[in-house]
Parts: sequence; structure tokens; C-alpha cells
Amino acid sequence: MRVFQSPAELKNELRSLDGSIGFVPTMGALHNGHISLIKKAKEQNDIVVVSIFVNPTQFLKGEDLEKYPRRQDADKRVCELAGVDYLFYPDANDIYEKDEVSLCAPNVRGYILEGSSRPGHFSGVLTVVMKLLNIVRPANAYFGKKDAQQLNLITLMAKQMFMDVNIVPVDTMRDAFGLALSSRNDYLSAQEREEALKIPASLKKATSMIMSGICESDRIIEQMRAILSPLEISYVAVVDREFKPLQRVEPGNTIILVEAVSGTTRLLDNIWL
Ligand code: AMP
Repeated sequence: MRVFQSPAELKNELRSLDGSIGFVPTMGALHNGHISLIKKAKEQNDIVVVSIFVNPTQFLKGEDLEKYPRRQDADKRVCELAGVDYLFYPDANDIYEKDEVSLCAPNVRGYILEGSSRPGHFSGVLTVVMKLLNIVRPANAYFGKKDAQQLNLITLMAKQMFMDVNIVPVDTMRDAFGLALSSRNDYLSAQEREEALKIPASLKKATSMIMSGICESDRIIEQMRAILSPLEISYVAVVDREFKPLQRVEPGNTIILVEAVSGTTRLLDNIWL
């Protein structure tokens, strides 16, 4: 595995290669969720590139940019073991200049749900993903369904900006208790982790209601909220794959999303139906 910090050097290297490139952008503190993206990229491409960059522009003032887990050595080892060919590990100065061109998330889809609790977050995400995709120029780029709204907006960006990249969604990896893996799970105390299990439990409840024929969004959301209590709930929503609210679950076209806070940690989860 070769490690690059400079965007120009990585670009030169990648442009000299033959074969399809699969790209997995991450913020590091790698876990099995990230590894499943890397595995899929390896299956579908000749060359796999992973980036690790804790992107400052997607953190709002007062969020956890400073304390976000950084584990350079362990992450390098994980990438090596997973068979990554190129690791891109830039600093903020390698990616951003002072007076910057940047992208704006769409007014509606970028400012509902996660975008409503974190206004401006998705503009930072889209800007950095655009930069990373331009550096790496992959045939395929891999994103987790766990961050469903992010995946939706990146897919939208690739389409609306006429980009030559295929955005590949990857299923959510969970721990043995059902909690969706996340680098932010590191922040949880044992008790908070236990409370956080209410999140997958609420989604399980939604699934069993739907299986028994209850498909009205209001009823599902009410039951999910009851299970999530006393966690602080940022939102529970039933939307279609374009992120429009649904009155009733439409099989094959529905995502049920939750964001709740355990201790001080925001946790996201969802199911695709
Ligand atoms: P992050 O490092 O949190 O920015 O995540 C990098 C990529 O990994 C994103 O596309 C995430 O959606 C994806 N990801 C994070 N957690 C999981 C998970 N538990 N299962 C699958 N993909 C994930």
C-alpha cells in the first residue's frame, strides 16, 4: 500500500495507472462498516483508493471537530490488511485554500432532517466529496446507507453536475447487539451504549408493524418515539428514496430514519424498505 498526502502527487500516480479505480472516502477511526465498503470496492475494481480526512467544513461551530477520533497508525494497518492499494491522507491545507469556491447543498433536500439539525453540514460534505472525486477520478465511489441523506445528496450531485462516477450504496454494518457501527460510538459510555440500543429497537418495531400490515407513517413514528424515550430525539421520519415525506410506507421506495442523542452523541440509523 502506498500513502500519499499531496493531492497533485496522488493525481499523477493514479493517472499513470491502467484499470478501474474504486474509491472509499472516510474520516478515519476505521471500523467494520468502512471495511465492508473497502471489500465491495475490491470486488468491483482493479485498484482501491481510500481517503482519510476529517473534513473541517462539514462540522458546525461547537461540534466535535477537535475531539473526533484520529488513529493514523491503526487506520493505516487496517487499510493494509484490507488490501487497499492507495491511502490518501491529506491535511486541511492540502485540500483547502483561504478564499474558496464551494458547493451549496440544495435548499430543500440539504436542509431537512440532518440538514435541519446541522445547517450547512451538507454543503461541506458535497464540497469535500467533489474535491476528492476530482483528485481520485474513480469509476466507482462507495458510500454507506447508514448516512442515507448524505448518500442521496452525493448521488444527486454526481447526476446534476454530470460527473463520470458511479455512486455505489453499501448496506449498514451493525455490532452484535444491532447498534449501527460509527466512529462516534467511541464517545459512548457503557450506559449510553446500552441506551443507544433503543435506536435499532425502534427500527425493528417499525419493521414488525409493517410486516403485520400497519403502514401509516404517523402510527409507526408514534410507536418508534415511544421506544426511543427517554433519548433526546432529533427526528424520526418516513420518506421515499428521494427524501419526500410519505403518509404510508411504499414497499421498495421507503426509508425510515432516526437521529437520537445518547449522552451528548448524535446517532443516526435507518432502514430501507
Ligand atoms: P465516515 O468515516 O463516518 O465519514 O464514513 C465513511 C463512509 O463509511 C461513509 O460513506 C459512511 O456512510 C460509511 N459508513 C459509516 N458507518 C457505516 C456502517 N456502520 N456501515 C456501512 N457504512 C458505514
